[in-house]
Amino acid sequence: MSVAKVIVDVAASPIDATFDYQIPTHLEEVIQPGIRVIVPFGPRKIMGFVIGLADESEFEQLKFIEEIMDYTPILTQELLELSTWLQTETLCYRISALQAMLPAVFKASYDKEVWLIEEETSLPEQLNAVAQGREVFPFSELEQSNISDSEVKRYVKNQLIDIKYIVKGKNRIKKQSFVEHNVDLHILMEEAENLSGNAKKQKDILDYFIEHHEPILLKELQSLLNITKAPIDALVKKGLLKIEQKEVYRDPFEGKNNESTTPLTLTNYQKQAITPILNAIDDEQHHTFLLHGVTGSGKTEIYLQSIQRVLDKGEEAIVLVPEIALTPQMVSRFKARFGDEVAVLHSGLSQGEKYDEWRKIHRKEVRVVVGARSAIFAPFENIGIIIIDEEHEQTYKQEDYPKYHAREVAKQRAAHHNCPVVLGSATPTLESFARASKGVYHLLELTERVNEQSMPEVEIVDMRQELHQGNRSMFSQALTDQINQRLENNEQVVLMLNRRGYSTFVMCRDCGETINCNHCDISMTYHRKFNKLKCHYCSDERPMPNVCPNCESDAIRFFGTGTQKVEEALNIHFPDARVIRMDVDTTSRKGAHEKLLNQFGNHEADILLGTQMIAKGLDFKNVTLVGVIAADSMLHLPDFRASEKSFQLLTQVSGRAGRHELPGQVVVQTYTPEHYSVQLASQYDYSAFYEKEMEVRRQFQYPPYFYLALINISHDNHVAAIEASKQVATIIAQNTTGNCQLMGPTPSPMLRIKNRYRYQCMLKYKKREYVDDALKEVLNHFRKEMNQNQLQLTIDFEPYHFM
Ligand code: ADP
Ligand code: ZN
Ligand code: ZN
Repeated sequence: MSVAKVIVDVAASPIDATFDYQIPTHLEEVIQPGIRVIVPFGPRKIMGFVIGLADESEFEQLKFIEEIMDYTPILTQELLELSTWLQTETLCYRISALQAMLPAVFKASYDKEVWLIEEETSLPEQLNAVAQGREVFPFSELEQSNISDSEVKRYVKNQLIDIKYIVKGKNRIKKQSFVEHNVDLHILMEEAENLSGNAKKQKDILDYFIEHHEPILLKELQSLLNITKAPIDALVKKGLLKIEQKEVYRDPFEGKNNESTTPLTLTNYQKQAITPILNAIDDEQHHTFLLHGVTGSGKTEIYLQSIQRVLDKGEEAIVLVPEIALTPQMVSRFKARFGDEVAVLHSGLSQGEKYDEWRKIHRKEVRVVVGARSAIFAPFENIGIIIIDEEHEQTYKQEDYPKYHAREVAKQRAAHHNCPVVLGSATPTLESFARASKGVYHLLELTERVNEQSMPEVEIVDMRQELHQGNRSMFSQALTDQINQRLENNEQVVLMLNRRGYSTFVMCRDCGETINCNHCDISMTYHRKFNKLKCHYCSDERPMPNVCPNCESDAIRFFGTGTQKVEEALNIHFPDARVIRMDVDTTSRKGAHEKLLNQFGNHEADILLGTQMIAKGLDFKNVTLVGVIAADSMLHLPDFRASEKSFQLLTQVSGRAGRHELPGQVVVQTYTPEHYSVQLASQYDYSAFYEKEMEVRRQFQYPPYFYLALINISHDNHVAAIEASKQVATIIAQNTTGNCQLMGPTPSPMLRIKNRYRYQCMLKYKKREYVDDALKEVLNHFRKEMNQNQLQLTIDFEPYHFM
């Protein structure tokens, strides 16, 4: 008997196990780990992943596998094993771990089609009998034929045919209409002669095909000759032309011309930095490197040349880039170096585009993938390097289950493949830099910019002074002057306003005082309903003061403005300036983001105003001024990483100015100019910031000194939410000893979202084993309630979101 071990598509606790199914004889040759199957499950039929095979089962009377969904495994053995690790690491369901590794189309309902790859003459008789001259036909016809499954498998393996999934109701594989000539050239010429005088359009078309013999996209032909479809149809009807549907890969980079580049001669600094990486590649060593270098120090060139070495060895490379849709400039650098070897995977692609790119990787048509977080699961089998650019970016942490961090997955995969991981950043996370300092990671530093240009000068403007001098607008005198100067010189300005943390904290506008928790050193959160300030880490609270505890001014209030308000103010203060606003509202449509950036790049606007999304990766020649409207809105998030995030963002946005010949200037407006994040960012002093911030982390027992786990509890009934969160605390207390700290339960900073009341507990610990059992116990305890969907409870290791 042959048995398949299957993980079924049901996410619920008692079901989170492997089920044994018997493999019917006709499928024995085909079924292997990593393919999906359809199995009977209770009264239903559901999808499942085969994760292993066995000769027998300890259970009796196994049900049979009904059907297979894939002919070739869509998950490799390595990825199957990785899913176990992911499950233990994040405490998620195994099925969620498996699905996280695949493009979403594999979750959707589907149909299958057979595509012939070879010419009819080289295909087996029985296949031609089914195909009947068609290049594509429904898979169901193959199933109904007398061709066996193992034979089909052989066809796929020998590349005679390909089997493709089609989402029901959607045309997932993109086909476009192509026009080509259907008769010999001399007939076309003859017909062109014979056309009557008023069929000029038809004549143009024939002339085109007399000169060009390749098929052309219907749309392209129409716009080229400026014609409607009618004259083309007329010629098709006469049998002179034909229109055919052909598969095209959806190319997210369509229309972008990528000039190719060759490796640059490395500077001495770059050589020093790249040598250990190249050695690790050559010696197949699993090292993690932290490449620390300011913007423009030549990190990307190091990535490119490391990848080249990997390709020369015949291996593959994964490059993670944050929010890649936002940095097309970055992607095109990889395309320019490696051309068709590159696949791109990111959230801005349509489902179909993602599937196409994934398929290129799966079929080994490419050897480099540049992508956002989930590209870490690219189904390569010979990985030679994994690169994570801007490693400090939060986007590498997945907020949904499985709540994994791509960096940790990268290290896990690299260990399997015996290859290096390179983490690059101008402002590494404290966690990474601490590891590098301890020798866990190998630190590589690039201290100079390649062109030896200095970083732009940063001017810190004290907004308290502005207020005292009677300037109540949101633009300081200094920033106003600087903007006017740029407008006069016909140069461009980038203005950043960070809206996160909007109005959750209070601040004195006179002296800049904010109110922090004495135990946790994070900003206290204002709860309007109770008119109280609350620490949402430890739940300490105090009344909202009427006057500033520091200077007794009554100008103590919430803080925050939106981008729209700033835009209005810009229009009043700088009536002649053309402004582009970029925030969630103006960029939600697909492609909008890029379009706005292109407009700005083409100098169709003078000022680019945006949220933090503009801080990353942009590179415009003509930008000579960067302004930060309110540095405080990020400094005082109720988050222990607030200082670190501010430092990163200020450093990053400053790097946007003066990247080319024109020198740059940065103006940072703040009510707390003395804050070390602001001060040290303006001096580009990462190591001083690191020292200072590590001291704070040690004192208040935060990462990297301790690990954190955040338990979020929400319920549509307020009392039930409170009860459940208390119970969580009790269970944890009962199942841990004194070697971890429990904080909370406490209301989340945003107590109520979508009519659900939200509470949280936080655990601080040194070793995962101290808390693992307790947390599993919590999950078990609430399983039933969670399945009934009233209560939601999530556990987040290494959390980044505390709202
Ligand atoms: P980073 O990734 O650290 O921001 P880049 O690799 O983008 O740095 O390098 C910054 C600029 O310097 C780019 O325009 C790049 O083409 C150029 N550059 C990098 N390395 C060299 C080199 N060895 N010689 C000449 N130019 C270089
Ligand atoms: Zn004050
Ligand atoms: Zn506190």
